[in-house]
Amino acid sequence: MKVAVCVKEVPDPAAPRKIDASTLRLDRSGEGALNPWDLPAVEAALRLVEEHGGEVVCVSVAPERAAATQRKALAMGADRAVLVADEAIAGSDLVATSRVLAEALRREGADLVLFGQQGADSDGAVLWAAVADRLRLPLMSQAAGLEVSGGTARVKRQTEHGYEVIEAPLPCVVAVSDAINEPRYPSLKGIMGAKKKPQETLSLADLGLDAGGVGEAGSGTAVYALGPPPPRGDSLVVEDDGQAAERILEFLVERKLA
Ligand SMILES: Cc1cc2nc3c(=O)[nH]c(=O)nc-3n(C[C@H](O)[C@H](O)[C@H](O)COP(=O)(O)OP(=O)(O)OC[C@H]3O[C@@H](n4cnc5c(N)ncnc54)[C@H](O)[C@@H]3O)c2cc1C
Repeated sequence: MKVAVCVKEVPDPAAPRKIDASTLRLDRSGEGALNPWDLPAVEAALRLVEEHGGEVVCVSVAPERAAATQRKALAMGADRAVLVADEAIAGSDLVATSRVLAEALRREGADLVLFGQQGADSDGAVLWAAVADRLRLPLMSQAAGLEVSGGTARVKRQTEHGYEVIEAPLPCVVAVSDAINEPRYPSLKGIMGAKKKPQETLSLADLGLDAGGVGEAGSGTAVYALGPPPPRGDSLVVEDDGQAAERILEFLVERKLA
């Protein structure tokens, strides 16, 4: 089976996020990292292919330098990588990003498309739904367990109230949670071998896409202003001297909140 895993390059998750004041976009100029939320998706793909045979292909929409970041997934064991890189894509919001990613995935025609839960930079956790919709494929999210047999994917889905077990026929899209597995560390052999694995870079033209459908022109949203959250006024700090519960209750009763 062919499993496509969508992996995102994000700014170093350990560093504070910076906004570029001139573009009102996240400053992505520092060293990029493989989105930590995508590691369980890569691991899930590798385990499926180890069990059923086939190949794992990583797919990203990002600037060209993200090829180095994709190599981290190749070092874990993925077979090859596809990167859609085109200057026109900069500034793409969810709508425009999903357009490009969906076309790259359509070209691959994988049996299963895996996503991580969210990006460590944007925390949107929506892209997989937009991509599944564009591909008209069934979507299962919050997957804490994933099995494939007889042309069907079965997911143990984490919810607030427990687990649901749901199924969808292949091909389908699955967004995995970080509870699904413990991602492996790349071995030294894997790191060395990753340099020789096929990495393909595609332009918008290769996917038959027009620059007008991506970047700011193809985005459904625009950022007009950004700023720190307003300071909270009228706040009350209650020190617990043994009377804290009563004072919190009084505070709520005064405001008709209890
Ligand atoms: C006005 C605007 C401008 C923006 N400009 C940029 C920009 O220039 N560059 C930029 O990177 N982001 C940009 N973004 C953010 C970007 O559009 C979203 O982060 C992206 O669409 C992912 O959506 P999400 O937040 O729902 O998914 P996320 O929560 O970020 O990710 C969910 C999962 O989707 C997958 N995924 C997410 N993004 C990609 C990708 N690019 N390739 C492959 N897999 C992916 C991963 O598996 C991830 O775990 C911009 C957003 C806005 C609103």
